[in-house]
Amino acid sequence: MFIVSLALTKDLVTNMPYQPLRRCSFPGCRNKVRSGRCEEHKPKDTRASSSARGYDHKWSKYRAQYLRFHPLCVMCLEKGIYTPATVIDHIKPVENGQADPLFWVESNHQALCRNCHSYKTRVIDQRGYGAKKNG
Ligand SMILES: [Zn+2]
Ligand SMILES: [Zn+2]
Repeated sequence: MFIVSLALTKDLVTNMPYQPLRRCSFPGCRNKVRSGRCEEHKPKDTRASSSARGYDHKWSKYRAQYLRFHPLCVMCLEKGIYTPATVIDHIKPVENGQADPLFWVESNHQALCRNCHSYKTRVIDQRGYGAKKNG
């Protein structure tokens, strides 16, 4: 995707000091990374804590697929900024993880970047953003 790669480049230029890419430290892997290992070979240390909150393997698979079809942060997009999305936000916040009836409802999902997601959960959800939607 042309737009995404532009956005990524811009992101790198504005947020990162220049660093040459090196090879993934996994033996035999030729993927280029900034440091350590590539996505494929990263140690998966987030699994325990994230499944404890109801975000398990099924969700991370769903997320990967969702973000492929919704690659840009929708809150940044409203401001005319192209930022690659990294998280799925629940527009109307869910409270019981996957047990919540709204957890898997696709119309309750939106793609956000990390910054917008933490802003949204910190500021907007506290005001009951989703609750006011219908009235
Ligand atoms: Zn690798
Ligand atoms: Zn954003």
